[in-house]
Amino acid sequence: MKEKEKDCSESECTKESCEGCENSKQSMLEDLNQYSSIKNVVGVISGKGGVGKSFVTAMLAVLLNRKGYKVGILDADITGPSIPKMFGITKKAMGNELGIIPESTENNIKIMSVNLLLEKEDSPVIWRGPILANTVKQFWTEVVWEDLDYLFIDMPPGTGDVPLTVFQSIPLDGIVIVSSPQDLVSMIVKKAYNMAKMMNIPILGLVENMSYIQCPDCGKKINLFGESKLNEISNEIGVDILGRIPIDPTIAKLVDEGNFETFSCDYLFDAAEKINNIFTKNM
Ligand code: ADP
Repeated sequence: MKEKEKDCSESECTKESCEGCENSKQSMLEDLNQYSSIKNVVGVISGKGGVGKSFVTAMLAVLLNRKGYKVGILDADITGPSIPKMFGITKKAMGNELGIIPESTENNIKIMSVNLLLEKEDSPVIWRGPILANTVKQFWTEVVWEDLDYLFIDMPPGTGDVPLTVFQSIPLDGIVIVSSPQDLVSMIVKKAYNMAKMMNIPILGLVENMSYIQCPDCGKKINLFGESKLNEISNEIGVDILGRIPIDPTIAKLVDEGNFETFSCDYLFDAAEKINNIFTKNM
């Protein structure tokens, strides 16, 4: 027999008892570390892993950093952390009496990731959901981000328990949805969209990654996965297109070398500009 649904009245519920419940009326929001001040928090999500969510997070962070903003990246993808490697960061994060101090890239983008805490970066993180989610919360409550204009959060992939808890714990100001061409066909992108919508967080736009490849000889664009459905889906769900990124082996090489910050392509230049325009009104 179906278990009787919990009667949710604000007086009976607590933050702890309602954790993970999408109907909760309790505010699950965690307090930011008292030595941090962050103007805009942008979550980057995808319906599943491996579509380039970290890639897009890092690219937007670098572009806004190049514009002169103070930027940080919170790597909330605890089981597949790839941000430190992209920026060639191997040093471990240290703590002091104020909290955990994030590492910095060459150009001073602040980074926090579970890989900066693990002894060996190839150790698997075999933790259950609540511990994964608590680690992300600690990156919010205990990391001394200091003053940032933008904190980008590389969200846990998918639409399960861990991303849900992160959505409820950190006050996101906007969401960027990353998809691959296949996600657009298989509706995985709609799951990500519906999740953000249910959380009432403004969706800044869609990025299609691995959209096409460009022939290095003749420059012709080849849609590896057939005609893109990006425009169709964007119209259907009423979300702007922020950009399309091809499969680019030169950037993949920079990722592998830990030199991502030196990329020179402009695939997300307009996207960063649009996001900045949305937020500068409030800054
Ligand atoms: P996710 O965060 O969604 O799991 P990643 O950003 O880690 O995915 O990307 C998965 C892999 O694909 C990484 O090795 C990354 O460097 C590579 N990659 C992602 N997007 C591109 C692209 N547009 N061109 C080349 N390589 C890419």
